[in-house]
Amino acid sequence: MIRILPDTLVNQIAAGEVVERPAAVVKELVENSLDAGARAIEIEIEQGGAALIRIRDDGRGIAADQLALALTRHATSKIGSFDDLERVATLGFRGEALPSILSVSRLRLLSRPPDAEHAWELGGAGQIDDIAPRPAAHPFGTTIEVRDLFFNTPARRKFLKSEATEFRQVQQAVSRVGLSRFDVGFVLRHNRRVILDLAPAVGDEGRLARLRQICGDEFVSQSTAIDESRLGMRLSGWIGLPSFARNQADLQYVYVNGRLVRDRLLAFALKRAFADVMHSTHHPAYVVYLEVDPASVDVNVHPQKTEVRFRDATRVHDLLFGAVHQVLRRLRPEPERHHQI
Ligand code: ADP
Ligand code: MG
Repeated sequence: MIRILPDTLVNQIAAGEVVERPAAVVKELVENSLDAGARAIEIEIEQGGAALIRIRDDGRGIAADQLALALTRHATSKIGSFDDLERVATLGFRGEALPSILSVSRLRLLSRPPDAEHAWELGGAGQIDDIAPRPAAHPFGTTIEVRDLFFNTPARRKFLKSEATEFRQVQQAVSRVGLSRFDVGFVLRHNRRVILDLAPAVGDEGRLARLRQICGDEFVSQSTAIDESRLGMRLSGWIGLPSFARNQADLQYVYVNGRLVRDRLLAFALKRAFADVMHSTHHPAYVVYLEVDPASVDVNVHPQKTEVRFRDATRVHDLLFGAVHQVLRRLRPEPERHHQI
């Protein structure tokens, strides 16, 4: 017999793709805060995220009568048409994260938009417990509290690694997003201890300070800034000098229009650019930002939105390869070059 699955089950199936672990929850929630225009985001984690993930922001909030919609599948304020999808400028657009997270946790959503007299909240365990919001105390902005992740999906819960491992992933997720928005402040706490405190970066100095906090002193002193524009695309960021070769590909950040992506084509272009100056068993380090026309890149490839498809992949490859190769070649005759931004 064929039947239509109940909503909660549908959401739990989607959750399998979108929220495989606490770090993925953190990524989705922080992206929502950024899409809401937040300037300060606090992330509180307990027990690696298995017990608690709480994200508070000072963004534009959600009106009381929209709270239930925010937790409903395929409900989004970010796109409304195929046209919008073709040129997405926000990090989210699928309307999946909140309902997916709710379906596998005990969730509370509290929000106060600037025109509200007070905040309202809504929540539930696995599903919304009551679609009528309750009054709550909360400053302007939004808090989402996620407790007991996977409490109702024991097989998934068992897949969680140690507290330390899960937290490391969370910290990486925050680091990635921290490198994408220097203008926003982030505080990350684990078991009530402050682990990362990224102040909003002012000017080049502030940016370097944040880069140092996330990538370390060594990377900052052994890298060079890059900023090249070609054919309507811009590539900026920092390239690790060949002397900063690593045994692991663990310091490689590529952003496309502010979104961290894992893309074989881009990674390959960078690897090729380093090929002349680095032994093939070593891995280059880089933090690079590619800005392209949103209409020339498709982000709707995978639910986690870390894969992209370029309309003109060869051009993107050539820009990346060409610009980085040139920088590395310029560096070679004089290895002692001052760091500039
Ligand atoms: P998406 O981000 O793809 O739209 P989500 O399920 O992540 O889908 O969120 C659903 C909706 O809830 C968003 O479109 C947005 O309107 C609202 N929302 C979620 N988080 C926040 C937040 N922190 N501040 C303001 N609005 C939010
Ligand atoms: Mg979202």
